[in-house]
Amino acid sequence: MIVEMTKGANKPQIKAVVERARSLGFDVQLNVGTEKTVVAILGSDTGKTSTDVFEVLPGVQTVTRIMKPYKLAAREFHPQDTTFEVGGRTIGGKRLIVMAGPCAVESEQQLRDTARTVKNAGAGVLRGGAFKPRTSPFSFQGLEEEGLKLLAEVRAETGLPIVTEVMGTEQIDLVARYADIFQVGARNMQNFALLKELAKLKHPILLKRGFAATITEWLTAADYLLAEGNQRIMLCERGIRTFEDSIRFSLDISSIAVVKRFSHLPILADPSHASGHFLYVPSIAKAAVAAGADGLLIEVHPNPQKALVDGLQSLTFSDFARLMEQIRPIAAALGRTV
Ligand code: PEP
Ligand code: MN
Repeated sequence: MIVEMTKGANKPQIKAVVERARSLGFDVQLNVGTEKTVVAILGSDTGKTSTDVFEVLPGVQTVTRIMKPYKLAAREFHPQDTTFEVGGRTIGGKRLIVMAGPCAVESEQQLRDTARTVKNAGAGVLRGGAFKPRTSPFSFQGLEEEGLKLLAEVRAETGLPIVTEVMGTEQIDLVARYADIFQVGARNMQNFALLKELAKLKHPILLKRGFAATITEWLTAADYLLAEGNQRIMLCERGIRTFEDSIRFSLDISSIAVVKRFSHLPILADPSHASGHFLYVPSIAKAAVAAGADGLLIEVHPNPQKALVDGLQSLTFSDFARLMEQIRPIAAALGRTV
């Protein structure tokens, strides 16, 4: 249930709503906006409570039942778009954020060359996996801590903040020492134990959409990350599995519009994992920007033919630079910059 206070509602009035909710056994989260305060009443039993219980209190403007299972990620709770800073760049603002780099950290040279190149082309965050979720246990699993150290070194040289995947609760402490943004991969979108532990830290988190997850399930998973008060959560559409088998996954362009309607969280798109092929990455990236994505996550490799992971979908340096130039006029047409 969402209680929207009037513009002039004072602290005792807000407190009265909070106390009434707590007396009924509910949890509460406050969104204190510049204009007005919104109180989210949380609990599986809110359906049994009449909205009148809150509507009669002084300073309350409206009380809305949320039929959707997610609450904290819902726009009703937080009407304005969420924006936040990472390493001097704003996520979710007018300027798009492009996160680019190799699928996996492979070597110092590979990472350094890629970071310099993507930065020159306009990327604001360096991506690179140190722990890789691989379908087969016999495939390259990532350089683990050595990879994280390389990411930190290259961050120090280039100033680019880093986004890197954390796959399990046992990796959190280690990854937290290096990462600026935790990436929760598609395969872990509903790893609730992981989400709960990550929520306790205050790091920014990029939550990928599971490739068999509905948008509602995805936003409900985001509620786990928001539950401890961390507001710095972003979503990433990375393609879902459909009956189409000529591409790796199908990037659900419409999810960008749906998420923008129902949620306040920034949403990025990952055309690399969606398509699985470098030839398709530019079209999908441009379509995502046109659809209103707040940024892109793109795989780039100095020599895709030699990449240890995801070479086919990785862009070369020149392909990436060209794509960045192609994106600029599309963003500009929407009143945005890159
Ligand atoms: C990745 O970004 O490296 C990755 C493994 O992506 P996903 O979780 O979307 O498959
Ligand atoms: Mn990859």
